[in-house]
Amino acid sequence: PPQWISLLRQIKWGRPHSKLYPLLHLQQIQFVEDKQEFSRFPTKAGRRSLSRSISQSSTDSYSSAASYTDSSDDETSPRDKTQLNSKGTSDFCVKNIKQAEFGRREIEIAEQDMSALISLRKRAQGEKPLAGAKIVGCTHITAQTAVLIETLVALGAQCRWTACNIYSTQNEVAAALSEIGVAVFAWKGESEDDFWWCIDKCVNMEGWQPNMILDDGGDLTHWVYKKYPNVFKKIRGIVEESVTGVHRLYQLSKAGKLCVPAMNVNDSVTKQKFDNLYCCRESILDGLKRTTDVMFGGKQVVVCGYGEVGKGCTAALKAMGSIVYVTEIDPICALQACMDGFRVVKLNEVIRQVDVIITCTGNKNVVTRDQLDRMKNGSIVCNMGHSNTEIDVASLRTPELTWERVRSQVDHVIWPDGKRVILLAEGRLLNLSCSTVPTFVLSITATTQALALIELYNAPEGRYKQDVYLLPKKMDEYVASLHLPTFDAHLTELSDEQAKYLGLNKNGPFKPNYYRYNHPSKIPLNDTQISDLCTIYLQWIPTSTTYMFSLVQSS
Ligand code: NAD
Repeated sequence: PPQWISLLRQIKWGRPHSKLYPLLHLQQIQFVEDKQEFSRFPTKAGRRSLSRSISQSSTDSYSSAASYTDSSDDETSPRDKTQLNSKGTSDFCVKNIKQAEFGRREIEIAEQDMSALISLRKRAQGEKPLAGAKIVGCTHITAQTAVLIETLVALGAQCRWTACNIYSTQNEVAAALSEIGVAVFAWKGESEDDFWWCIDKCVNMEGWQPNMILDDGGDLTHWVYKKYPNVFKKIRGIVEESVTGVHRLYQLSKAGKLCVPAMNVNDSVTKQKFDNLYCCRESILDGLKRTTDVMFGGKQVVVCGYGEVGKGCTAALKAMGSIVYVTEIDPICALQACMDGFRVVKLNEVIRQVDVIITCTGNKNVVTRDQLDRMKNGSIVCNMGHSNTEIDVASLRTPELTWERVRSQVDHVIWPDGKRVILLAEGRLLNLSCSTVPTFVLSITATTQALALIELYNAPEGRYKQDVYLLPKKMDEYVASLHLPTFDAHLTELSDEQAKYLGLNKNGPFKPNYYRYNHPSKIPLNDTQISDLCTIYLQWIPTSTTYMFSLVQSS
């Protein structure tokens, strides 16, 4: 009877209720199966994990993937609210300014793993290399971005910020930034219309004109081009983080329409390797597991695109025991996938058999409606690329298909015959929408962005033309050197004899500009502008345990 079952549950997890002593023989029978399971998970954690209910795990993924504020029942659009921070300012639009204190704690946690950025902040804040800079930013608004924004402010900049993704904003962090006077226009779950409204609010401010742009995806740059082209008269430079945004910049440059210098930080080696490769290697499983609880051993997964993000995803899945297929358009990347032990296939060859599809191409319509029609029941589709057009999600919004929201960021799309395909984050970037990204990785990106902004803002006229540039190699090495103390890593110093033999300066750069650290360059060298000069003067100095670059002065 049901009441026995509920009493037996008490026996399973706690001290048996005295009323149940007569039933203990039943308890023993019930325990046989559980004991076997427990012997595989002898620790407390194992026991707990077995007792977790589905609803709890869905709550976990909800809260940790996004933010504290997600549980809020307040459905009022932030655009319809009037909010003031404690200084009485209202130049921001966030979900709830009252959550600033929680956001501050999140930022403090992030700071602990962003020691390189903090050390850059400490070294340069006396000098204020960004004094007078008015930066308008469009990036994911997370605790880690907040550490970057606060670093820019400490170095002298004024900032207005908006989100480059409608789902990835940590509401309490946006509140914390607004509380200290940064004009943030962003909240989690913006509509498409809100997204552009927020960008506009950042740019279109009476009495304030930006002179620097920090973009992730190119939407902000595009908006300024379209709506406020005159703003470019004052802009000293654009710093762009994403593959997609960089691609747009090169297109503008080729068409002769780029009217300010731009720094492509996506292709700086440190950013490329760490943000794209290592970050995705760490976060792909996290995003998939939090949303679906899927087990990866033996699952057939196809990863579309074997660039940096694809390499990270495949490495993680392979380590979990999945059978991984790769699709590629580029023979070099395809060959790399073969060498790494993956079957390179066309998506159509495996579409009927795979359990999971992950797109990582930066391209559009990589998974089409026709292919989604042929996927098997229960298969999972998600995207790790920047844009939500990799999977043709729009084609799934037709009357014969039913959409069922089963968890936050998880939709079941149901075909008339009952087949279900599990779509994550509506085809938007999985890891940033459904999980967290390692802070250390973001520290590297943020340090690179901060240095690129400093460089473009301070460069003497004529150093950078209306073109797209890579970060000077020495700065790339500087970013890496700032992060080495975290690992107590000790660099070897070249002897004079060795430096002469290799034809290198003992202080770096240590590799030629074309050296891609085992990664084939994505930008034809002819298209790539790399300045050997940099405004920040970097000196190779001994520390107690190692040699590293030091930011000494502006020259
Ligand atoms: P990449 O250029 O190194 O790799 C993309 C690969 O996709 C290339 O090798 C390309 O040949 C291949 N490709 C293009 N079209 C294809 C198609 N139709 N089918 C199969 N393969 C195709 O770029 P990347 O650094 O790996 O970044 C990929 C995307 O991920 C970008 O949109 C980028 O902005 C985004 N990104 C996401 C994260 C994240 O945390 N999720 C981090 C960094 C970058």
